[in-house]
Amino acid sequence: MLTYLDNAATTPLDPAAADAMQPFLHLTFGNPSSLHRAGREARAAVDDARACVAALVGAEPPEIVFTASGTEADNLALVGAFEADLHRRHFVASAIEHPAVLETLKHLERRGAAVTLVTPRPDGILAVEDVERALRPDTRLVTVMTANNVVGTLQPVAEIGRLCRDRSILFHTDAVQAAGKVPIDVRATAIDLLSLSAHKLHGPKGVGALFVRAGVKIAPLVHGGGQERGLRSATENVAGLVGFGAAAALADAERPAEAARLVRLRDRLLAGVTSALPNVRLLGHPFRRLPGHLCLTLGGQEGETIKLLLALDERGIAVSTGSACSASHASEPSHVLVAMGLDPIRARGSLRITLGRFNTDADVDRFLAVFPDAVAGLRPVMSRPLATDRAQGEASR
Ligand code: PLP
Repeated sequence: MLTYLDNAATTPLDPAAADAMQPFLHLTFGNPSSLHRAGREARAAVDDARACVAALVGAEPPEIVFTASGTEADNLALVGAFEADLHRRHFVASAIEHPAVLETLKHLERRGAAVTLVTPRPDGILAVEDVERALRPDTRLVTVMTANNVVGTLQPVAEIGRLCRDRSILFHTDAVQAAGKVPIDVRATAIDLLSLSAHKLHGPKGVGALFVRAGVKIAPLVHGGGQERGLRSATENVAGLVGFGAAAALADAERPAEAARLVRLRDRLLAGVTSALPNVRLLGHPFRRLPGHLCLTLGGQEGETIKLLLALDERGIAVSTGSACSASHASEPSHVLVAMGLDPIRARGSLRITLGRFNTDADVDRFLAVFPDAVAGLRPVMSRPLATDRAQGEASR
């Protein structure tokens, strides 16, 4: 039996979303652009999905542009803004953005953009005044994620949005980790562009969306038949979008109760781990964080957390290291933890545990029963204090 505690990497598809998708995989197969009945049925399903995704973030349905991933939504926001106005070429981003943002900005630099990265404070949260200091007369866009995927901290997006709105600068936020977990209201906040991904909220993989506020002009990345208001041509992934819509509606309906449940599980897990192993500390702000998200430092050395991850895996528990999210970069320290001021050695010795809808108290019990034993083999290394550790990224508990 698998105890899956890696919901920031991806979430299991909710059975309700799978059921909603089923007819669109074979029976209702029309092309939404076709004028006959099969096409009209598919179009209606895409429209319903768009309304559900819009409702999740407080947008109007025409403001939702479906994409093939959160990564593509980030690319569309940044490259689209760059290409729509080549006169203002300065971009500001947090230094802890997902590679979908940071690598896209590197691509824009090669095309003549200037990029300023703003470092977070040691608790993983950006100071609004640091963002303000980075702005220039030619700043085109600021991008700051709503919630970080490594450490789980929430950023002051409402304040940063206001700052941008006052200066007619576009504000983009990557809400891939946050959507469905914390309230998001694009009408109440000065957000112009916002990225979403279905598979982080119990929807299918390979389905995303970009909210584009009415009146905001960006250029398309994908050219063709003019679907998605010309911003993302291609025949729609109807079944995937239906699954996204169903998952968004569920997340929206259950969010307040589910968030409270996850906070309780998360805090119980943290209390259990820290009382069993005093060397373990929480990284990032203690409560300005996603409800089900923990990132722990183990005081270990390079490679040790990978051993721990594999030891947990052998015992049927899936977690992640706090280092780079791809297996090919697993031994590199996370750019997020390094930006927070952690020593690179300590940044390598971190573990990410993320809870989701299908986790229960029994999963926390299993983790707490297995964890000290899994750590035991690594203990001699882990219990050694690190002289170089500035522990700046550590929260107070
Ligand atoms: N942005 C953030 C913050 C993420 O955590 C992820 C996925 O890990 C992405 C973007 C990319 O989303 P997708 O997997 O849909 O491309």
